[in-house]
Amino acid sequence: MATLESLAFDNGFARLPEAYYSRVCPTPVPDPYLVCYSPEAAALIDLDPAEMTRPEMIETLAGNRLLPGMDALAALYAGHQFGHYVPQLGDGRAILLGEVKNVAGEGWEVQLKGAGRTPYSRGGDGRAVLRSSIREFLCSEAMHALGIPTTRALAIVGSDHPVYREDEETAALVTRLAPSFVRFGSFEVFYYRNQVETIRHLADYVIARYYPELATLADPYPEFLRQAALRTAELMAQWQAVGFSHGVMNTDNMSILGLTLDYGPFGFLDAFDPGYVCNHSDTAGRYAFDQQPDIAAWNLTKLAQALVPLMSVETASAAIAGYTQAFGSAYLGHMAAKFGLAPGEDTVSLVMDVLQLLAQNRVDYTIFLRRLCDFDSRSGAANAPLRDLFPDRAAFDAWAARYAAALRQLGSNDAERGAAMRSVNPKYILRNHLAEIAIRRATDERDYSEINRLHALLARPFDEQPEHEAYAAEPPDWARRLELSCSS
Ligand code: AMP
Ligand code: MG
Repeated sequence: MATLESLAFDNGFARLPEAYYSRVCPTPVPDPYLVCYSPEAAALIDLDPAEMTRPEMIETLAGNRLLPGMDALAALYAGHQFGHYVPQLGDGRAILLGEVKNVAGEGWEVQLKGAGRTPYSRGGDGRAVLRSSIREFLCSEAMHALGIPTTRALAIVGSDHPVYREDEETAALVTRLAPSFVRFGSFEVFYYRNQVETIRHLADYVIARYYPELATLADPYPEFLRQAALRTAELMAQWQAVGFSHGVMNTDNMSILGLTLDYGPFGFLDAFDPGYVCNHSDTAGRYAFDQQPDIAAWNLTKLAQALVPLMSVETASAAIAGYTQAFGSAYLGHMAAKFGLAPGEDTVSLVMDVLQLLAQNRVDYTIFLRRLCDFDSRSGAANAPLRDLFPDRAAFDAWAARYAAALRQLGSNDAERGAAMRSVNPKYILRNHLAEIAIRRATDERDYSEINRLHALLARPFDEQPEHEAYAAEPPDWARRLELSCSS
């Protein structure tokens, strides 16, 4: 197990030419303190969890000291924000410290979010507040536990340094880990600047490191684009299946590796609502829950455009053309598993019809699917807890009869199907109100125990945890008025 001092840095991104980033050091914060850490994320870089509480570690994760081997930088990128091209974004408050190679040979980039101003900060202060850092920390680790590709979060370090948003808040830094933070926008910036060789070199870098099976192709670029589209399709299928809404699907927040990236005003569905908009600032609903797959497709056209200097327009279009079908079959596959059915036409109509019923009856999505794991295909009476979720009982009964018939036709065994379904239908998700309670304890009382409790709970989202039954419940009334802005 590595200690802080024995972490082995090998900074691939920093070896690229300076066109892609600016070298910049974190700005120190006063009196940093450890808020929480993820032992599971520490394991990714072989770090002994006992290291996490050392004062030297806290100073490092606060950006107050650099270790030998680190090569700090802020990456340049651009992106389409709410449909409009913004020529220069970049890491405005994130600083890449370096890349750690673990014993398995995997590289993990270590990035501080909220580490102070960079050349890309524009008018911003380069900081992140404790509130949004808690949300990002908890959600990244929860998504991973759900089996959804995501950047990871190692720790949160806080400081009483004031940060001004709508109100005065305090600063925090999230240490993020990912194989790479390269985004669609990392390519777009050079397309709009007409820097073809810079696009090619970045593509070569990403292919060599993250799509190595393509590196030997005579012309790897179309296949690279195709693979990126397929990873994006799989990610969207997983978001839609679990009921996750990202909130700000700008192309600068789209990972070239198909990871969930840049957690802001995200939200999990409580009551099933296809038009759910988690970002209070998104008044047009561009990034509504049910728009996400189409938005990802649109974002892919922007990535394809940025790669057109490396291939013909026709080739680029063809490379992303498989997205829709890939999304459809991945989504159907996930939903079929969640319902204990086989993918097929009948499953599509059973799933679509019940989603419509959930929306009409405002049924909690996660609770519905979890209770469905106990579905009795022979006795209607045994399904009362599920049926009780629907104010329109008759509509539920009609659907349940069709579902039971489909299960009987499959020869499905209730006990076996239930066990399989419980491994894909989480009992526990990071509902907004749960995050909010942990945030209030942390900001009002400096009590971080609720963050740790949630982190541990959400590390096992598919397990029954009877002592935490209340965490699986629908949101309380006060939580219905929670609004999430972009401010973080
Ligand atoms: P986001 O919508 O959080 O992905 O951020 C969009 C862009 O704004 C990114 O380039 C961020 O680095 C930058 N940004 C967001 N908040 C700040 C901040 N407080 N200070 C500097 N840059 C920021
Ligand atoms: Mg972003």
